[in-house]
Amino acid sequence: AKELGRNAFCFYQRNMDEDAAERLEVEAALRLALDRNELLLHYQPQVHIASNQLFGVEALVRWQHPQWGMVPPARFIPIAEESGLIDAVGSWVLDEACRQMAMWQEAGQAPPHVSVNLSARQFRHGSVPTMVADTLLRHGLPPSRLTLEITESLMMMRNDQTLEALHALDEMGVKLAVDDFGTGYSSLGYLKRFPVSELKLDQSFVRNLANDEEDRALASAVVRIGQSLKLTVVAEGVETAEQLAFLHEQGCDVAQGYHFARPLAPDAYVEWLRGRP
Ligand code: C2E
Ligand code: CA
Ligand code: CA
Ligand code: CA
Repeated sequence: AKELGRNAFCFYQRNMDEDAAERLEVEAALRLALDRNELLLHYQPQVHIASNQLFGVEALVRWQHPQWGMVPPARFIPIAEESGLIDAVGSWVLDEACRQMAMWQEAGQAPPHVSVNLSARQFRHGSVPTMVADTLLRHGLPPSRLTLEITESLMMMRNDQTLEALHALDEMGVKLAVDDFGTGYSSLGYLKRFPVSELKLDQSFVRNLANDEEDRALASAVVRIGQSLKLTVVAEGVETAEQLAFLHEQGCDVAQGYHFARPLAPDAYVEWLRGRP
């Protein structure tokens, strides 16, 4: 048993080293990726359920590595967060999304707004409002065309600097959305303290709506929380007409998911827009 234990320990140890080595490799490559223009954005449409009108698009970052191919954000965003690279990645994402919006606007193809994901880590410096204001100004984009998606964990940080930053963004006219709503914490008190205008019902509640009574109850509860607080509720990961019908019935405002479109490269978004009634 002792022998086995030691082997098991060695095995574990080696895995940890491999993990650490891989993280360092990804981190080094990500540093280069920013200079080499390997990052790009895809845009996923969000649709008003009742009217079928385009509500907005969410910008989702992609990494096209010359050897590794498409690296999903789940593989590099956490590493960017740990290493501090998230500030550079996050600034790039915001700049690129605003640049694209300005171009679409000129071409008469802009969605009503673009949503950009922000990591909690980006709020450590207190420079987010300035960065956002500068970026909007640089591209001549009105603040009302930008929504920032932040997770519940950020809202739960009882941190005056974060609260100040969110209020500054609100006063600027930028909208704030709570991403992955329902997955983080049970306290809803932060909804009162923070100037949010949108709740994003996490896709884990949407996935099994067809055959899970509990998920149906939770989804409809989230929609009602949103309604009573006069927040726009956006359901994520809507893949089927059945899920859409249920969400519509509950009074959910907006849906985003493969049922309408996958995250699309800019050209594909324009094509998708053309194909709409
Ligand atoms: P998220 O913000 O919750 O984004 C939604 C994810 O769900 C996206 O994954 C999207 O491609 C996927 N999705 C959309 N519709 C469907 C559907 O109908 N079915 C299924 N199964 N999935 C769907 P993606 O693009 O891989 O992004 C994963 C996560 O990475 C995002 O989750 C977000 O947390 C993070 N992320 C992406 N871009 C950025 C970024 O620019 N900055 C930061 N900080 N995080 C980002
Ligand atoms: Ca998001
Ligand atoms: Ca989400
Ligand atoms: Ca999610």
